[in-house]
Amino acid sequence: MEQALYVYNTLTRKKEVFRPLHAPHVGMYVCGPTVYGDAHLGHARPAITFDIIFRFLKHIGYKVRYVRNITDVGHLEHDADEGEDKIAKKARLEQLEPMEVAQYYTNRFHEAMDALGCLPPSIEPHATGHIIEQQQLVQQILDNGFAYESNGSIYFDVEKYNKVHKYGILSGRNLENVKDASRDLAGVGEKKNQADFALWKAAQPEHIMRWPSPWSDGFPGWHCECTAMGRKYLGTHFDIHGGGMDLIFPHHECEIAQAVASQGEQMVTYWIHNNMITIEGQKMGKSLGNFITLPQFFSGDHPKLDRAYSPMTIRFFILQAHYRSTVDFSNDALQAAEKGLERLLDAWKALQNIQPTADGSVRLDSVEALKQQCYDAMYDDFNTPIVISHLFDATKLINSIVDKKETITPDALEALKETFRLFTFDLLGIKAGGATASNGGGNEAREEAFGKVVDMLLEQRAKAKANKDWATSDMIRDNLAALGFEVKDTKDGFTWKLNK
Ligand SMILES: [Zn+2]
Repeated sequence: MEQALYVYNTLTRKKEVFRPLHAPHVGMYVCGPTVYGDAHLGHARPAITFDIIFRFLKHIGYKVRYVRNITDVGHLEHDADEGEDKIAKKARLEQLEPMEVAQYYTNRFHEAMDALGCLPPSIEPHATGHIIEQQQLVQQILDNGFAYESNGSIYFDVEKYNKVHKYGILSGRNLENVKDASRDLAGVGEKKNQADFALWKAAQPEHIMRWPSPWSDGFPGWHCECTAMGRKYLGTHFDIHGGGMDLIFPHHECEIAQAVASQGEQMVTYWIHNNMITIEGQKMGKSLGNFITLPQFFSGDHPKLDRAYSPMTIRFFILQAHYRSTVDFSNDALQAAEKGLERLLDAWKALQNIQPTADGSVRLDSVEALKQQCYDAMYDDFNTPIVISHLFDATKLINSIVDKKETITPDALEALKETFRLFTFDLLGIKAGGATASNGGGNEAREEAFGKVVDMLLEQRAKAKANKDWATSDMIRDNLAALGFEVKDTKDGFTWKLNK
């Protein structure tokens, strides 16, 4: 941690030196998915962005507690205070218990994140498991006079809050903009002002997701869970709160207001937001027909997709842009990313077979310089595209050694292997062998089938041996060996592994 880490803070709109409150501990809260449908690119980007931050902070010596929630109640349609709960709606349409919907899509989300190489968070709290904490938050805000009751619902009084504290510090919006923007929504209804937002909603009779409270049987407002669960697991003040830029307003703005209204000051030091992904220049949306889920990317099963793309190609594609830049998806861009990743992984394989020479032209100091450049990029607000460009420089170098245009000393070779491995696999989180769709994640079934074919061949070999048909037995073993399978005879039969 000798080198200063710079992070861009949305709150101050500048890069700042990262100074955790309680080093070496770091608390990081990231808004997770609302689990009513399959994850899409809009979920992949924050997951990968904060996975990179999580990996790098740990690598430079911090003990990171990474909390990412599962929203399984309270997120209403159009992110508004009216309309149906997203999960309850899906449950009604599919005639399922809402928790079945939440569990099903939580499992699917985990599978997709695992395929993308994202490490699981340290804690993954569910909104429905923290109703009491959310009610306590609402009560504190009521006690401090920044909320009011209306027909059993509790609303945050933005105008009153804005007189004492400033509303809009994260998004840069002032209260007048917010009022104008919300004017076209349905009437004010129970609220005093359109800018006010729900902390607790009284449930309609048909609403099945409901809990008792001092105010009504109901459910928490969407913004409450992150404030309540962030505070529970990371304390009243913690280091990083993150998510996609689309969450800056209203979600994170409301979280700041809730924190200040309940405890008198903000909870979070660094607000970090990833930029959005567009699809062929357009915002992703169900109505535009360009809404592609991650499982569809992995299978190629969508009219907009030329073919399947491996999870590692998606990851590499996302990491080729800085997290604060926009990314535009197209088949061409993904295919270019796939080629680039293949080039990188081919170089890694070639690197394993390079023989060093004592008087090699590539020496340790030039590899050390390359490694430092990669570090400098990561310390500068996690600049993964710059890291990747340096890894491509390393790829060129490896290829010129393979082509005998250069030679490398033994210590430089070891350092190059170490640098390549550290940045490509440990820090960027790429899995080896992941460029082509057929080698990508989610293909355990395929691997298992291949394994069974090998078993079948080896059983034929065992039979041949039992019949003293040595020619067949040797042929099977030799052919498998030529493909990279190492076969060992044991007293119970055989074992094998693929050395690739
Ligand atoms: Zn959140």
